[in-house]
Amino acid sequence: MKRYSAFAIAREAMRQHTGWTKAWASPEPRTHYDVVIVGAGGHGLATAYYLGKNFGITNVAIIEKGWLGGGNTGRNTTIIRSNYLQDPSAAIYEKARSLYETMSQDLNYNVMFSPRGVMMLAQTEHEVRGYKRTEMANKLQGVETRFIGPAEVKRLVPIMNIEGPRYPVLGALWQARGGTARHDAVAWGYARACSDMGMHVIQNCEVIGVESVGGEVSAVATTKGTIGCKKLGIVVAGHSGHLAELAGFRLPVESVALQAMVSEPIKPCMDVVVMANTVHGYLSQSDKGEMVIGGGADHFNNYTQRGSWMHIEETVRSLVETFPMLSRLKMLRQWGGIVDMTGDRSPIISKTPLGNTFINCGWGTGGFKAIPGSGWAMAELMAKGESPLADAFSMYRFREGRFIDESVAAGVAH
Ligand SMILES: Cc1cc2nc3c(=O)[nH]c(=O)nc-3n(C[C@H](O)[C@H](O)[C@H](O)COP(=O)(O)OP(=O)(O)OC[C@H]3O[C@@H](n4cnc5c(N)ncnc54)[C@H](O)[C@@H]3O)c2cc1C
Repeated sequence: MKRYSAFAIAREAMRQHTGWTKAWASPEPRTHYDVVIVGAGGHGLATAYYLGKNFGITNVAIIEKGWLGGGNTGRNTTIIRSNYLQDPSAAIYEKARSLYETMSQDLNYNVMFSPRGVMMLAQTEHEVRGYKRTEMANKLQGVETRFIGPAEVKRLVPIMNIEGPRYPVLGALWQARGGTARHDAVAWGYARACSDMGMHVIQNCEVIGVESVGGEVSAVATTKGTIGCKKLGIVVAGHSGHLAELAGFRLPVESVALQAMVSEPIKPCMDVVVMANTVHGYLSQSDKGEMVIGGGADHFNNYTQRGSWMHIEETVRSLVETFPMLSRLKMLRQWGGIVDMTGDRSPIISKTPLGNTFINCGWGTGGFKAIPGSGWAMAELMAKGESPLADAFSMYRFREGRFIDESVAAGVAH
């Protein structure tokens, strides 16, 4: 793999950009790999990357039914933060956030990580209490957050109306090193690094069956033929229930559509990320100038990857009180992704009833921020059979009543 650098850009500029090579190879699948990962979203690719980087396991195929990052990884609003309440969540999300800080250097690929600061608005007394509690929990967990008052909110986001009338801004939980990153670049950067280690990233190849012998998976049936494996990782977000069914077990997840939209581009007016969870909307400004707006999830299970008019109207209407300038913007496009929700709003990184098969899912509306930490933990679990970061997130916690309740931090927030 040729390294990207300022020198390489200058050299290629001198020779009409004829020397660039493909960022990743597109090989035909072999008949057998040590590890097969289903799903080339951020979590699947990161799992493969850390299997290679941390454990030297490189005879790996990542199998994707569509295109790289075409699932939720390329559809989210890119918010990165780690201000969760429970200790296992803070540990994995903070690990992920810290890996984002150096991801561009690590992958030699610019993922445009922008730690511009994330604020979660408190617009009811209940939220004030909740976020002050989270601030205290974060202090104990070593996660840097701070509860700030309305005056500081206004100073950081001058376009905000903090005075109500329905939901005045009473303060916010502020994480200065939270922010955003370019979502496609995260998938592309990992794919390039995996390909460079000799792994096979196989696109347009759907897994349609799982073959097992004596309680262990021996192969997956795909639209490009049968592919054998010693270990299988299932990392397919909204399609996890379907893959689990193919493998013969059930998961405590539900799949629903979550949608987002962007406005026409405007001049820079907001340089932090704002989440307004009471009214259920969140907002940031992209480098192109578009206002990136996300809202709630559908209230019924589906696999549509579209949004509904009802949600667009509801989201914009609820944000206009706090951001009156939005009423004058045209919305350019809107889309949806299928997210996999667990009952306690925390993910699953787990062994399964099949001895050599592992599952990573349940990130729901907020898994983009977790990609590097999740990949790190899943790789460790697959390589060693245990991982301190993943242990609490076993799927068996629902049977044993060991919930990791993040309904405040993740139930409506992203
Ligand atoms: C509108 C929206 C906004 C969001 N906003 C945020 C946010 O601001 N911050 C945040 O942290 N998170 C956010 N999220 C959540 C985040 O996008 C996801 O949690 C995360 O991207 C999940 O990544 P993944 O790699 O697990 O899944 P995906 O990126 O969906 O990857 C799974 C892949 O598996 C493939 N696949 C499925 N079935 C098969 C099969 N049978 N064979 C082969 N391949 C298969 C799919 O094609 C897909 O590419 C948002 C999500 C949406 C939809």
